Amino acid sequence: MGDTRLRCRHAFETVTVHGNGEVVCSIIDGRGDFVVGNVYKQSLPQIFNGPRFQELRRLVLSTPDQYCRAIGKHCPLKTRHVSGDELEQPVQIKLLAIEPTSACDLACLTCPIRDFDSSISWRNAYRDGGMKFWLWDSVRRFKQHTADVIRSMVPSIPDTTQLNPMTAKLLRGRVHTNRNGTLPLSVIQRVIEEAGEHVERVDFFNYGEPFLYRPLNDALRHVRKILPKTEIAISTNGMQVHENVEDQIISERLLDWLLFSVDGSDAEHYQRYRIGGTFETAFGNLCRFSRKAKGSGIHVIWQYVVFEWNDSDDQLKRAIDLAADQDLTLWFDFSGTWGRSRRKTDELQYLVPYLKPFVPLPGEQRYDGR
Ligand code: SF4
Repeated sequence: MGDTRLRCRHAFETVTVHGNGEVVCSIIDGRGDFVVGNVYKQSLPQIFNGPRFQELRRLVLSTPDQYCRAIGKHCPLKTRHVSGDELEQPVQIKLLAIEPTSACDLACLTCPIRDFDSSISWRNAYRDGGMKFWLWDSVRRFKQHTADVIRSMVPSIPDTTQLNPMTAKLLRGRVHTNRNGTLPLSVIQRVIEEAGEHVERVDFFNYGEPFLYRPLNDALRHVRKILPKTEIAISTNGMQVHENVEDQIISERLLDWLLFSVDGSDAEHYQRYRIGGTFETAFGNLCRFSRKAKGSGIHVIWQYVVFEWNDSDDQLKRAIDLAADQDLTLWFDFSGTWGRSRRKTDELQYLVPYLKPFVPLPGEQRYDGR
């Protein structure tokens, strides 16, 4: 019988740099719970081959299922079957994710940004998401504050990696106050140079809005120069995509993929989650960029994350019609957090041609992708 243990790809081939310089495994560790290094203090090879990254790999392999002891949670990216002694095999950086800035112009309901943007507190929850969201958010924040107090009073409590899943969940505290930051262009350039020739894709986004990063195009040019065969991708909320920047991106082909996250097919449903955004602006920027980029080789995608408030057949079919009307490529993704869609797999079969690669319908197993 084959090995049934699961692992992720990320601990073995991905480096994710946060805006404060800290390095983590992937977008799943948006809070920065298991930091493996810091690009202000170490080179990328030192981090990727260092003892802390090896500890991360060991932790991933220490549980057979999707539970990851590094972050004390189940991880949707832990989907690969283990083969042989993975710790003995050589590792290479194949995916480099850079969060140029953690600053964002929106306050999307379940985004970790709400936890490390000091201007957003529990007081905003009712205004932004109504009573149901306020209750969920208040319980979560109260639990995290309590966990911090308990940990400060009982310093002998082991760290998350040594706790069982329930205790790890209960004792997860607030996000560290130093999670915010913006990387200087010079640091980003050095990271790109250190990443090595095996990088297949650079994701120039994580949390935060990449189009708020002023030297965005200079950074993208550097990726193109140093890693000419590497794909470059950005995911944006679309609100800050301005024509002067977009014209350079298109004429110099500074991107291969640009995903606009516009979760709804009208203003009313879009604004339930994208707090501070407007459907007209985000969708208008998407349509304009897509029109101008035709023939440039840049793939422009409308990414529609499905939640319980935008998952009616009316909304979904309207999105499909709008995409056809505007000649857009539409990908549906499904939120796994608060507000997730409760629609059944067999009700949504008509979305299959429009699913984001590697994304399953609700109730189905996630594919082995990134
Ligand atoms: S299993 Fe998930 S959380 Fe754990 S290291 Fe891999 S990607 Fe990160």
